[in-house]
Amino acid sequence: MYRKFTNFVAETTMLVMLRILHSKHIPFGSYAAINLFGFIIVKKGIQMRWVDIHHELIHSRQQAEMLWVPFYTWYVIEWMLKLLKYRNLTKAYYNISFEREAYMNQYDIKYLRRRRWYSWMRYLSKKSLR
Ligand SMILES: [Zn+2]
Repeated sequence: MYRKFTNFVAETTMLVMLRILHSKHIPFGSYAAINLFGFIIVKKGIQMRWVDIHHELIHSRQQAEMLWVPFYTWYVIEWMLKLLKYRNLTKAYYNISFEREAYMNQYDIKYLRRRRWYSWMRYLSKKSLR
């Protein structure tokens, strides 16, 4: 059981490592990483912890199930709506349903194994994060 679990973590990490790119300018501002179509772009000099990688993996799943373009469209629209609600860029970001799901489950390494399709929808009405 434990061996299966560690193999799973190692395999997943390797798979993700292959898709991590480093950039001087992307993502902009104070963000450390961005997931674009399953490719994780990390700002130069930033060290990704396993929990950050897992966070991005959750986003990769959300994107794949929404066929990418609708994901980004929904993401930006929800961010703008939350910005109107909270009047704070950071608070709006943390309360996007995709981010709520990723932040609330990033430490649960088995989360993606039991996650149901479109689980992010359950975070639309959750209480405010941060
Ligand atoms: Zn995120």
